Amino acid sequence: MPAPRALAPAIQKALHKLGLRRDIDLALHLPLRYEDETRIVPIASARDGQLAQIEATVTASEVQLRPRRQLVVQVQDASGDCTLRFFSFYPSQQKTLAVGARLRIRGEMRGGFWGRQMLHPVFRAAGGELPTALTPVYPTAAGLPQPLLRRLVASALTRVDLPETLVPELAPPHAYFSSQNSLQRLMCLRDALTFLHRPTPDVALAALEDHSHPAWQRLKAEELLAQQLSQFQARRERSRLRAPVLALVQDGASLTARLQAGLPFALTAAQVRVVREIGADLARAQPMHRLLQGDVGSGKTVVAALAATRAIDAGWQCALMAPTEILAAQHFAKLLGWLEPLLAAEGRSVAWLVGGQRKKERTAALARVASGEAALVVGTHAVIQEQVAFDRLALAIVDEQHRFGVLQRLALRQKLAAHGMEPHMLMMSATPIPRTLAMSYYADLDVSVIDELPPGRTPVVTKLIADSRKDEVIARIAAQVAEGRQVYWVCPLIEESEALDLSNATAVHAELSEALPGVAVGLLHSRMPSAEKKAVMALFTEGHLGVLVSTTVIEVGVDVPNASLMVIEHAERFGLSQLHQLRGRVGRGATASACVLLYATNDSGRVGETAKERLRAMAETSDGFEIARRDLEIRGPGEFLGARQSGDALLRFADLATDTHLLDWARATAPKMLEHHPELAAQHLERWLGGKSDYLKA
Ligand code: ADP
Ligand code: MG
Repeated sequence: MPAPRALAPAIQKALHKLGLRRDIDLALHLPLRYEDETRIVPIASARDGQLAQIEATVTASEVQLRPRRQLVVQVQDASGDCTLRFFSFYPSQQKTLAVGARLRIRGEMRGGFWGRQMLHPVFRAAGGELPTALTPVYPTAAGLPQPLLRRLVASALTRVDLPETLVPELAPPHAYFSSQNSLQRLMCLRDALTFLHRPTPDVALAALEDHSHPAWQRLKAEELLAQQLSQFQARRERSRLRAPVLALVQDGASLTARLQAGLPFALTAAQVRVVREIGADLARAQPMHRLLQGDVGSGKTVVAALAATRAIDAGWQCALMAPTEILAAQHFAKLLGWLEPLLAAEGRSVAWLVGGQRKKERTAALARVASGEAALVVGTHAVIQEQVAFDRLALAIVDEQHRFGVLQRLALRQKLAAHGMEPHMLMMSATPIPRTLAMSYYADLDVSVIDELPPGRTPVVTKLIADSRKDEVIARIAAQVAEGRQVYWVCPLIEESEALDLSNATAVHAELSEALPGVAVGLLHSRMPSAEKKAVMALFTEGHLGVLVSTTVIEVGVDVPNASLMVIEHAERFGLSQLHQLRGRVGRGATASACVLLYATNDSGRVGETAKERLRAMAETSDGFEIARRDLEIRGPGEFLGARQSGDALLRFADLATDTHLLDWARATAPKMLEHHPELAAQHLERWLGGKSDYLKA
């Protein structure tokens, strides 16, 4: 068998696509399922729907033209007979299937009493040895036929070196591998792999399929350990980096003290706690890498402001980035209001940086950032562009961090390279990370949670309403506006086309303007020039608009406490977390608020049951964690994690929902392994991640 590099380029390309570069990659490429070619069954004993292998003699063979052209072949063994049907076939196949030929045939048996048949079975001349193991079926790609992949995996397995990395003191206790009450010992990796690639036919297929077999347990334990090792290693590497020490300035005249004294509210206990956690990180010479998590409306902005003043008090600069301009503008307005008067006294200021800025404005902002006069810089990803040179950046705050890619975060870190240090990083998110994800993919992050809403909020009532009752909803809007309240109307998401999105929003805007005479209805969509967006948003914030029709540009972070009703059209097209974020835009003041989820019933009849069930989940709970958990169930971690990880680094075998015991073990074992067996840890990481582990460091 040739080594992979001797293969044709097309095949190599397919292998690369599957991430199969090294022998070890092939060895770890495990079957999706198996076929049993180890036995030959009598025709009469094959059940309907069973994948069966038979040996039989052809008794008749003819091409029929009705009802459609097909090759129909009768075969017979000692127990009975069976019809084979082929709707497409080559002359050579027809020849093999000639009357009198003895064949070995494999396919799904259909029918019973009225005659058995197989559609398009696989066949060849009878005889020859039967394999002694089940035949693996691997995930493959176009251009890489299954039999070739099988041979490549088998030969890689014979070449590959599999040193044991789980020395006895690191191996999980036997109890981890108990299956159906019988304790199993930990299989060694080679045995486990050999078994999974070529299981003996007597194995309980169920245990292979649900991955509960000890061989699978070994592989999943290995994989989880590799993931934890890479996360702990990233953490250790970071602890070797230097960051500016931002000591707390105990002085009533400090910016921090003056900001806190001037706030119109007292911090909640949860806010006080997270401010303290962040403060402890900032006082250290190692870069902070912390995620601030808090449900929508929990008050993350003021926590961010207090972190910023801490940096500014220590004589450094802070940058705050948000994924959209609207969101950045809201932060800017709020922070400017809080900090500018305080900063002005010291001759310092807050700068604004976004993409579509006027040249003059931008040049001035850049100069203030470079000179250090701008103590705080707020903006979109424009903040991390190359031309932006900071004087002394010590803290970077990233709002809704899951929307930023790894590369953007790397760029941010490089902003302090001139000082030979890295900035502290604070990431903020309103999307709660379910516990298992936090323990696995986010294990290299410290997490602070604001688990309490500011007092005086009234819970949002969520209603599911069919869009055939839109009129009633519009009447409700009129009533709210008459009471001096404001309303959001979120237009459906049209993923395929931004243009459609826009025309739809425009149509809704016209419809509502007509249905609500005397009510000022505003329109906000992603294609608007940013100045116009800002102007519309300002009108709404100041209460001049009763209704704001918008595409999902308001999805995150917008804060208008007087808004008490949100209508989401075609709610079934949104993800749960997204709906939760949207709903968080209302219920920010003391008045009772409501969220109406309109779902479509017209064109295709009715909304699908799963979609409805998802929407029901929204009506049942307002707990962001519960919603995130259900969202994770529905969408799986890949989508949930978004840009955080390259697809490569996702878990392939372990399932966070069922393998928490293995995850617990891996979490406990990874630091021990790095500490006491660094060479084994390196070997283990190399085996599983090869060159991919860089992604995990951002
Ligand atoms: P989010 O966590 O969603 O970003 P914000 O920071 O926008 O939430 O805060 C939501 C609203 O609550 C804002 O109007 C903010 O000023 C207000 N707020 C924040 N903290 C408190 C508090 N401790 N008491 C009262 N209101 C608060
Ligand atoms: Mg926010």
